[in-house]
Amino acid sequence: MKLLEDRIRRDGTIRGTDVLKVDRFLNHQMDIALINELGKEFHRLFADCGVNKILTIEASGIGIACLTAQYFNVPVIFAKKNKTKNIAGDVYTSKVESFTHGKVYDIIVSKEFLGPQDRVLLIDDFLANGSALQGLIKLVQDAGATLVGAGICVEKAFQPGGDLIRSMGVRVESLARVKSMDESTHSIEFC
Ligand code: 5GP
Repeated sequence: MKLLEDRIRRDGTIRGTDVLKVDRFLNHQMDIALINELGKEFHRLFADCGVNKILTIEASGIGIACLTAQYFNVPVIFAKKNKTKNIAGDVYTSKVESFTHGKVYDIIVSKEFLGPQDRVLLIDDFLANGSALQGLIKLVQDAGATLVGAGICVEKAFQPGGDLIRSMGVRVESLARVKSMDESTHSIEFC
């Protein structure tokens, strides 16, 4: 999606070999007009899939999921990062390894909000190694719900997550796919 690629080129910052910062417009300060266009595009891509729930993961995915959900007219569920050892109540759980911190944490969704009647679209800001998506996919499977696919804003295609998740038979639609990036020259190439 040219709009997003242009914005990443203009306002994105490369850190080291594998981190792209988009704090100016996507996951710290949020450009709502831009994210609204991303939501519209996710809707165009998945409009005829019978989506009735959008599932994301806190925190960065929430805003994007909400602006997307307006077009589907469906609720957003965000998987919570569980901080306590005792998982209370009736919840689905899975584990996610944080890309930025390397730590493994549990994510949870209440059984009240996800079940066999649901057709779920996953939304997230980044796809890197695929751990966040794998965690969300497990929640959908444990709930007996149908996974329609995943809408990703920025896929770093030089990392293994995209191939991994697609090889599981999951439809992944990424609005910008970064082929390579170089901190020293501040250059980004898209697929
Ligand atoms: P994965 O689980 O696919 O390895 O990583 C995806 C998650 O890590 C996303 O939810 C996102 O929050 C974070 N992430 C991965 N790569 C980047 C990156 O280059 N920049 C930022 N800002 N977040 C990232």
